[in-house]
Amino acid sequence: MTGRPTRDRPSPNHGPRPGDGRVDILVIHYTGMRDAAAALDRLCDPAAEVSAHYLVERDGTVHRLVAEDRRAWHAGRAWWQGETDVNGRSIGIELENPGHEWGYRPFPEAQMAALEELARGILARHPIPAGRVVGHSDIAPRRKIDPGELFDWPRLARTGIGRWPPGLDQDCGDAPEADLALRLLGRIGYELDDPAATVAAFQRHWRPAGIDGCLDRETRRRIAVLATDD
Ligand SMILES: [Zn+2]
Repeated sequence: MTGRPTRDRPSPNHGPRPGDGRVDILVIHYTGMRDAAAALDRLCDPAAEVSAHYLVERDGTVHRLVAEDRRAWHAGRAWWQGETDVNGRSIGIELENPGHEWGYRPFPEAQMAALEELARGILARHPIPAGRVVGHSDIAPRRKIDPGELFDWPRLARTGIGRWPPGLDQDCGDAPEADLALRLLGRIGYELDDPAATVAAFQRHWRPAGIDGCLDRETRRRIAVLATDD
């Protein structure tokens, strides 16, 4: 099954990838703007100095803004599994959604189906491990909350994109103490310089029913599941 044809909407906001040009991180965003047209304009505005490789509209239309072999400017200051030049190593996908500022809403079926097809193609072209399919909030916990708690990570994982270990949804297993839980967050890939922000980012992705930055028992249990299930 294939969706709508991909449209080219070239952005000038990109540069060369560093080193060998290897791509092994996939970052999911939301646009956080009123509509897709405004987001496309901004992502293609040289003065804005931001971009992404793709934008997926709510109706499933996919726009290609930057070629995959180029370094797009979507992550900003970020960290994942010790990598600080996330833009240099990643593909960035923007999903049309007004975001928390303009009326955050669920991502519709057509948009999710188009994202899955796009991501499957990207994973076929680049060796991106499941543990390096992340949200913007995962890699910049103090600055970002996209794609947000309504994004359906379990659905993506069921089609082989990213992780959602079965143990996450089964209330069994031990919860580590807080100091060990923080170290395990680091093992998963999170930066630890602001623990409360990092715990909230973890919850937004992996325990979206409660996002308060507190290391409650269920959050600590889920951290252990993610850190030990590879
Ligand atoms: Zn973002």
